[in-house]
Amino acid sequence: MVLFHTTLRRKLAEDFREGRAPQSICLWGPHGVGKHTLALGLAQIFSCEKPIEGKGCDECRNCRALHHSQAPDLMVIGDDEDAIGIEEVRTVRDHLTRSPLSLPFSLAILSNMDAASIQAQQAFLKTLEEPRPHSMIILTATAFSNLLPTIQSRVTSYRLTPVPLSDIAEALRAQHCRAHVIDVYARFSLGIPGRIWQQGNLRDDLDEEIDLLRGVKDSVHAPYWKARKAVDTYFLFQKEHTAHYALERLLQGLFTLDDTRCSFDGQLMLKVFRNAQHFGNRELIIDAITLGICYTSQRLGENRKQLMHA
Ligand SMILES: [Zn+2]
Repeated sequence: MVLFHTTLRRKLAEDFREGRAPQSICLWGPHGVGKHTLALGLAQIFSCEKPIEGKGCDECRNCRALHHSQAPDLMVIGDDEDAIGIEEVRTVRDHLTRSPLSLPFSLAILSNMDAASIQAQQAFLKTLEEPRPHSMIILTATAFSNLLPTIQSRVTSYRLTPVPLSDIAEALRAQHCRAHVIDVYARFSLGIPGRIWQQGNLRDDLDEEIDLLRGVKDSVHAPYWKARKAVDTYFLFQKEHTAHYALERLLQGLFTLDDTRCSFDGQLMLKVFRNAQHFGNRELIIDAITLGICYTSQRLGENRKQLMHA
């Protein structure tokens, strides 16, 4: 588990030690910023028999049980694919009413709570309103404002912002990453660990994605067909995702590559894409995007920052 957000982790560890940690927490921030990982990290910090510097010791009974997913007192629900439903909320409610068996508390982590239906969120209200002693709840959400106001007012929220690139580089060094790629990976992450890590391991296809992006960038001043082929290949790489996601990744990725031979007009590109979307045809979308990239690459990207964090 690669843990970031050190300041928040240490603060919550200290609050917990001193008995003033909130019973219901919501961690929110952009997709991939590490909300779920931090939630699991907090479960360990709060349960550890001898935590050190905002981290679990990895050795005590509780740390080991959590590490091997063998802690019955912890329930984790919700993922990127399936939104939390009413039935799951009920299971969580039952779980939290039970007395803990080995951890100091019964804990539930509900990921992507803002994707849950209104009915599911409403079903969870009672649990938040009357928290049982020895129970803890950690919610995660991409946008805090997407939660029902009644939920918002019953949790203590912490916003997770992108991680400093120096922290990402340090984590890569700790994982014995080859020196020459650390800088590339760190910049490519844009401070969002989920862009380069998946469940604690570097993504298998990370190098492939970076190579494909380099291919696009190197081809923008080449003949059109060559640039189009490069964009097409990148879109094929992202075939599991929507065209909108692929375009966003493509533009963000291009900005992170090191040479400054071309820059892109982000605002114009978004306009091109919005129009292209109406074609509803993958081939035409790719045509429009290739033209957009080739055309705007000559211009200075005035709204580059805005696009990168859109
Ligand atoms: Zn421990």
